Amino acid sequence: MQEKFVYMDHTATTPVSPEVMKAMMPYFSEVFGNPSSVYSYSKKSRAAIEKARMQVANAFNAAPAEIFFTSSGTESDNWALKGTLENLKSKGKTHLITSKIEHHAILHTAEYLHKIHGFDVTYLPVDSEGRVNPEDVRNAINDKTALVSIMFANNEVGTIQPIKKIGEICREKKVLFHTDAVQAAAQLNIDVKDLNIDMMSISGHKMYAPKGIGALYIRKGIRLENFMHGGGQESARRASTENLAGIVGLGEAMEILKTRLDDDMRRISSWRDEIISGILAKIPYAKLNGATGSERLPNNINCSFIGVEGETLLLDLDYRGISASTGSACSSASLDPSHVLLALGLKHEMAHGSLRFTLGRLTTHDHVKYLLEVLPEIVARRREMSPLWEDFLKSNA
Ligand SMILES: *Cc1c(COP(=O)(O)O)cnc(C)c1O
Repeated sequence: MQEKFVYMDHTATTPVSPEVMKAMMPYFSEVFGNPSSVYSYSKKSRAAIEKARMQVANAFNAAPAEIFFTSSGTESDNWALKGTLENLKSKGKTHLITSKIEHHAILHTAEYLHKIHGFDVTYLPVDSEGRVNPEDVRNAINDKTALVSIMFANNEVGTIQPIKKIGEICREKKVLFHTDAVQAAAQLNIDVKDLNIDMMSISGHKMYAPKGIGALYIRKGIRLENFMHGGGQESARRASTENLAGIVGLGEAMEILKTRLDDDMRRISSWRDEIISGILAKIPYAKLNGATGSERLPNNINCSFIGVEGETLLLDLDYRGISASTGSACSSASLDPSHVLLALGLKHEMAHGSLRFTLGRLTTHDHVKYLLEVLPEIVARRREMSPLWEDFLKSNA
């Protein structure tokens, strides 16, 4: 039974794909020169980095000079927020606008900027499906606003934000616009020019490249303070000797992703819809969290089951070989209900009974069928033992 490995947590991380692995291998020991050294041997390392920069830029309709490699999605988010606010402070711009459902890499950075530096932060609400209203962005902008940072798509419930509209408003109001596209970049076609995006964070390990590599797109002409101070790497904007193999991996992963994205997402979104309708049909009082159709990430399923604990269901699923999540991997160590589900208006007891399944390249149609066989049994069995469920039935009788 434990032999079974049904991985349904592609939003937490993905395996490095074989092609990416192959592209990276030479850069650990054969081609290891420091890209900043002057001798000709190091030119190969420099060339590999510039190729990867081109691959990433091409994927988003950006220019290579607008792509800066970082250590992670988290670092990219920290850099965009801290670097922009610190740079614009002297111009009297001390206000940041973000949303209540951001990843902690944004939320905790915003809290830090407020607590340590006294910057003002507005946390915009979302509707019951997790959408930010662009008019709320417009109304929150004042003459002190330095930056708007709204995630492209949410990692817990998969809601895709009206990014184009928000980008237009920011451009019109002459306010910088950053988006955390760590999840979206792995699943959607993104054109930073068309969407008026000024800065965008991505991460390797969410798109079949290794952990510990990321990038920040910074539109030409935009200034922000450096986050990492030291040597002159990345045009003197991000210090530290380059993660050569990681950068090569990210570039390769992006290029491969683009070639297969449309086919992958057609397949995966149809399995997503099969799982969602299966759950709603087979499990009484199951509720889907987030939006539907094209406003939802193709790979995301997030459902609440009144009367049961998500954590317990996870262990039962694990026993049957299914790896899933209760929300974001980062907060699963804490017992607080997800800040995202609460922002959508879920009651604590519903938020506690939530599960997230995220599909990807490891998913097969057999996995889909297996989940739909196992999950209803598990929920029914746990509900039988649950006083919460009994109370719920009584109050609904
Ligand atoms: C995973 C994730 C991050 C953090 O990326 P790391 O590379 O793990 O630091 C940031 N934002 C979102 C939306 C994510 O899903």
